[in-house]
Amino acid sequence: MPAGVLVGWSAGAPALGSLACSTGAMREVRRPDWWPYPESCQHGHPWGPGRVIVSWMPCDCGPARAERQRGPGHLTVSCQVPGCRSRWYRPDHDPGAAG
Ligand SMILES: [Zn+2]
Ligand SMILES: [Zn+2]
Repeated sequence: MPAGVLVGWSAGAPALGSLACSTGAMREVRRPDWWPYPESCQHGHPWGPGRVIVSWMPCDCGPARAERQRGPGHLTVSCQVPGCRSRWYRPDHDPGAAG
């Protein structure tokens, strides 16, 4: 069985540099400790409260059903940068497996 937690893409997450007290962080976004979403979209726009729209998308694809057998779907996070259509799904969306 799947592990349950399938996190969107893995864009070589630059999780190395600690966020603690970094100086001169011009693009720093204040994110609460509980922030459960990626720190940026696929295009590198920083994500944080007020910068994304979180919603629910009913879906029947395999990963969605694996996580929730009743009312399967995805938590989706949409980048709000104008022109950016990046969207993150949890669990992963698998269009090919729908149906
Ligand atoms: Zn974006
Ligand atoms: Zn899906």
